[in-house]
Amino acid sequence: MDAEPANSHNTANSHNTANGDGWRRAGGERPTTGADRANWAGNYTYSGVIVEPESLDEVRAIVRSGRRVRALGTRHSFNALPDSETLVHLGRLPSDPVVDAERGTVTVGSATRYGDLARFLHERGLALHNLGSLPHISVGGATATGTHGSGDDNGTLSSAVAGLQLVTADGDLLEVDRETDGFDGMVVGLGAFGVVTRVTLEVRPTFDIRQDAFTGVSWDRLIEDFDAVMSAAYSVSVLTRWSADVIDHLWLKTLVTESTPDLIDATHLGAVAAPTWELSDEQPSNLTPFGVARPWSELLPHFRLDTTPSAGEEIQTEYLVPRSRIREALRSLRLIGARIDAALLITELRTVAADRLWLSGAFEHDVVGVHFTFVPDVDRVNAVVPAIEEILLPLGGRPHWGKHFLATAPDLGPLYPRLEQWAALVETYDPRGVFRNRFIEERVLGG
Ligand SMILES: Cc1cc2nc3c(=O)[nH]c(=O)nc-3n(C[C@H](O)[C@H](O)[C@H](O)COP(=O)(O)OP(=O)(O)OC[C@H]3O[C@@H](n4cnc5c(N)ncnc54)[C@H](O)[C@@H]3O)c2cc1C
Repeated sequence: MDAEPANSHNTANSHNTANGDGWRRAGGERPTTGADRANWAGNYTYSGVIVEPESLDEVRAIVRSGRRVRALGTRHSFNALPDSETLVHLGRLPSDPVVDAERGTVTVGSATRYGDLARFLHERGLALHNLGSLPHISVGGATATGTHGSGDDNGTLSSAVAGLQLVTADGDLLEVDRETDGFDGMVVGLGAFGVVTRVTLEVRPTFDIRQDAFTGVSWDRLIEDFDAVMSAAYSVSVLTRWSADVIDHLWLKTLVTESTPDLIDATHLGAVAAPTWELSDEQPSNLTPFGVARPWSELLPHFRLDTTPSAGEEIQTEYLVPRSRIREALRSLRLIGARIDAALLITELRTVAADRLWLSGAFEHDVVGVHFTFVPDVDRVNAVVPAIEEILLPLGGRPHWGKHFLATAPDLGPLYPRLEQWAALVETYDPRGVFRNRFIEERVLGG
């Protein structure tokens, strides 16, 4: 009955690879219909039919059809979360961004890519508070999984959601906002409340960011001075492997104000400027530029919108660890550093401010995103993920909903104090289980 084929955790090397390379080389978007039903990484093939309705009425008719349905964004998640009998991609509905200057919001079609929205807003003197590393992901898909960028004061991208328009299980069109009961449960909704057609996000005046790369910070210094390092800029990323003594890179995205110096100095953190050739061996032009100041829309993401994203085939895993436990977490992970590095391309550490969204990784406390970009070999990845989860889950680490993880509902239940309320809310909105799938049942709800 539920749509989730046996490939959910194991196809990183499989039949999708050729297609994946093809579309990335072309620099385009993955086709959303037809035979290609793989996700972005090529490690999961959706079992259902992908449809692209051209009107809201069509979306409503699809949902009313009695089949199991789920929304599909830009396919950047690494697991079976979006899968269903019918996967609805809204790329043919108008993006149609509408700014409400009085409320300080923009409302946009949910399939809109963050990078496109960012450009639109900057041209109008506006900004979002933050962006993820990749500007190619959809607003609907990113906010449904608690996607985040970095910065001590920056909440998840979901935390900016002020309203949703969605097609619910009976095909009705519903508008909800912060005044709606249960709204905090619906935002990081994992697609379980319906097909979100439009999203309203808080905006602020536009701003400039300066991006600089450093190296030379020792692991010991990072752990000891974690707060100083992570507060060194508006958005900070530590990129590293685990077994060396020194971290690879520290990327600082500094808010440009009148007093921002021409050269950013990080010697107080034991850091020296990184030679630019070190930034990426293979495709340096994929990355947003360093050593320059530009609008937020260009420098908050790591990757450029107009190039093919990321370096190639990979599997990503991430745990949102309570900031209060991060030193323990990092020390323990360092003890198995060689095992992690055997399957690792790169780790990234980012800070995320607490929010009130029930299923957010940052629900009610500040967290650190401990991210692993692994090689695209699920056996090698799964050889080390249990050891990582053994360390991070007891410390309160919540797996990123859009990334690869092995924990199941019994492991996750204790990490989400509002999970029972979330389940009850889902039941209220979707008593027939139109938007449920095996992933939601096994990984989130349990039983
Ligand atoms: C290269 C790369 C870089 C990444 N960088 C980051 C990062 O910096 N920070 C971070 O936190 N994550 C990051 N991610 C993870 C990514 O942000 C999430 O997986 C996100 O969910 C992807 O959005 P999507 O549009 O591709 O969603 P999909 O993968 O298509 O769907 C994910 C979930 O969202 C639901 N969904 C999608 N659209 C809708 C809708 N309209 N209505 C209701 N539900 C919907 C789906 O049903 C599914 O449950 C990255 C992923 C990749 C591949």
